[in-house]
Amino acid sequence: MKAVAQQPFSGRLLMIGYGSIGRGVLPLLLRHIALEPARVCIICPSPAAREAAREYGVQVQEEALTEENFHQCLEPWLQPGDFLLNLSVQVSSQALLAFCQARQVLYLDTCTEPWVGGYDSDELQPQERTNYALRHALLALRGSTDTATAIITHGANPGLVSHLVKQALENIARDLGQTRPSPTRREEWAQLARSLGVKVIHIAEYDSQYAERRKEPGEFVNTWSVEGFIAEARQPAELGWGSHERGLPPDARRHPYGSHAAIYLQRPGAATPVHTWTPGVGPTLGFLVTHSEAISIAQYLTVGEGPHPVYRPTVHYAYRPCDDALLSLHELASRHWRPQPRQRLLDDDIVGGRDELGVLLMGHARNAYWYGSRLAIEEARALCPHNSATSLQVTAGVMAGVIWSLRNPQRGILEPDELPHREILDLCAPYLGKLEGFYSDWTPLAQRPPLFPEPGLCEDDPWQFRNFRGG
Ligand code: NAD
Repeated sequence: MKAVAQQPFSGRLLMIGYGSIGRGVLPLLLRHIALEPARVCIICPSPAAREAAREYGVQVQEEALTEENFHQCLEPWLQPGDFLLNLSVQVSSQALLAFCQARQVLYLDTCTEPWVGGYDSDELQPQERTNYALRHALLALRGSTDTATAIITHGANPGLVSHLVKQALENIARDLGQTRPSPTRREEWAQLARSLGVKVIHIAEYDSQYAERRKEPGEFVNTWSVEGFIAEARQPAELGWGSHERGLPPDARRHPYGSHAAIYLQRPGAATPVHTWTPGVGPTLGFLVTHSEAISIAQYLTVGEGPHPVYRPTVHYAYRPCDDALLSLHELASRHWRPQPRQRLLDDDIVGGRDELGVLLMGHARNAYWYGSRLAIEEARALCPHNSATSLQVTAGVMAGVIWSLRNPQRGILEPDELPHREILDLCAPYLGKLEGFYSDWTPLAQRPPLFPEPGLCEDDPWQFRNFRGG
């Protein structure tokens, strides 16, 4: 890789957690930011971060943050202008964000995490375990817009995909012969999506990576946080709810507060299969696992307000995880969603496969358009050490978000949709493999042989959510 111009930074960077994303992002940050390792510290309860101390000379504090100790742990490290990069699980994003905003400390995370139990306590109602509720609480911390920049949920998805959606909208407009200046305001992006006739947006991902050692009984295997994936797999399925939808699914519920941009289903995301399409394999079945981008993108692209706006696309994740994660989910379901006793992260032992992560925009004049990153494991390893194809798509988004924050340090609390997509994509692109767009004539009704009657299907509008539900 050719030499890069480093982003100046004179503060300290404190990283919380050193799992698949922390380990993968550290070499990227040290490459792209003028940051001596002595000004970096990692707080993490596992001994894994010792590797970073040996390899890079960063400082490490082996400790678990809790609701009781986090103030005391963070205070000594952070002054105004320093950076807190939260890449942990089971540490409240809301608590860390409030801490940073009160001290003019820059902040970025990749997921809105609650404290332990926030995703799966028996005492919580399904709606309290949704990303809608978590996001609403986080955005309530927004005050004046000139506080320290804090970017929430900026990895690959959520994160990068918000920028891919904007680029995909511009690409479709260009391919339809429309010449117009690029939108600059939220309302203009929503109007563009509406004028193109985009009805549904999937975050359509197919992970085909594998290791030689296959999943064993009693083991959950994945290419990124096992704890994180189990947590979101067991949350209720959630989706941005489009204005073209004719009726709520029988198992759906609305929230009585907030933007009304999304609904949730009274079933786990990992038990909610949906038909989708990715360029490598074509039609496939993914899971409607909840993610905050389904809500933020839907809200960002809304024309009008409330539960019945003039225009809003249906937006959700359709995730086909790697083969062993798929088997792990099957076993998890058979255990009534009680986690397996053992976990295994696939990283250095991956021997083949790739991650195709993109956005699939449907219902417009060219039918369906997938735009995204197609990254093979060999390419990922050549581009940056300690990364798989999955982690590099995430860590590139993290690195880009950190650099943008350093360039714009007083912008307050922001979601990915509110950042300039071209600047972020330019920073990420060298790490995304092929960044490509594909048109397809696929619809969820295509090639559906009538083996059994499917009375719920809506033949006169393929883009109704009920047509996407599978299984
Ligand atoms: P991981 O499970 O591999 O690592 C989590 C890290 O958090 C570990 O180092 C663990 O020791 C640490 N940790 C656990 N409890 C802690 C505590 N109390 N205090 C401090 N550290 C603690 O997870 P990962 O794959 O690296 O993912 C990190 C985060 O990024 C998760 O929230 C995950 O959901 C999110 N993520 C987001 C994206 C995206 O595209 N937006 C993609 C992958 C992961």
